[in-house]
Amino acid sequence: MSVMSAPSPNALPRFVHDLGHGVFCIDTAFVRDEFDAAYLLVDDGRAAFVDTGTHFAVPRLLAALDALALPRDAVDWVIPTHVHLDHAGGAGALMAELPVASLLIHPRGARHMVDPTALWQGATAVYGPDEMQRSYGQVVPVPETRVQTSHDEQALTVGRRTLRLIDTPGHARHHHCIWDEASRGWFAGDCFGISYPELGNAEGGWILPTSTPVQFEPAELDKTIARLLAAEPACMYLTHYGRVGEGGGVPRLGRILREVLAQSVAMAEAVRGHASRHEALKAGLLDIYADSSARHGCGFTRDEIARLLAVDIELNAQGTAVWLDKSRH
Ligand SMILES: [Zn+2]
Repeated sequence: MSVMSAPSPNALPRFVHDLGHGVFCIDTAFVRDEFDAAYLLVDDGRAAFVDTGTHFAVPRLLAALDALALPRDAVDWVIPTHVHLDHAGGAGALMAELPVASLLIHPRGARHMVDPTALWQGATAVYGPDEMQRSYGQVVPVPETRVQTSHDEQALTVGRRTLRLIDTPGHARHHHCIWDEASRGWFAGDCFGISYPELGNAEGGWILPTSTPVQFEPAELDKTIARLLAAEPACMYLTHYGRVGEGGGVPRLGRILREVLAQSVAMAEAVRGHASRHEALKAGLLDIYADSSARHGCGFTRDEIARLLAVDIELNAQGTAVWLDKSRH
């Protein structure tokens, strides 16, 4: 398709937010508004996507390019932070629309982008077949010749800007994060937790770790969070959801995140042998989240936190259980 006229950036669609520094946040519409983000970085007429949302997000990603009057061949990179489908599910269909882009993926995730069969089956085991059709649609394979793998401390060029990638295990072994020096921000994927805008408050928001199955490793995640913080970021670009920590708030969010992670691990160890372990894990996580969010200025009751974080509590309990079963004592 052709763009009839070049709209000005102030005519962005309602689901595209200009964050400055050539960084645009795109609401992928997965689950609900302001739940799942993809990012478009633009510098000197060249562009990169970081995370793609699901297959259903691709029209919005392309609409963002159109609104910014960027041709499809201006995109050099598509960089999913990891291969979970709310981050990479749309990568194949997106790549098919971008003639010169390369997919840059963690080496442990590359084969799943070329042949998504195992990825689809793994996600179906977690979410069930109906939810897979409804929420994820399909996963289009990426031709192997268009896939590049990342390595720790890799530098990457987009226009005149240099990005830096680091290997970030803990949420998943196939996760990398991307440092943007221009805005001093990390595209953190799922490594710096979840902070929905609803959880925002005058004190700078509240945040919780995500331990989605099946590669959650809390000790590794804590090290990853420490490494992200060591760069003294001015902000974090979260997939769930949006930019957080601007105005000097990143260290505070980091402290909350690491504290909630440590409490969650201690709770999980305590219910390891519980007869209904899954229910005990869910109740334990809810207690921790309700208490922490209340202490850090969120005005939500326990019931409201239970409702707002229902999906996360379920997935975090599942992922924590998988870790408990793998860890030896
Ligand atoms: Zn994930």
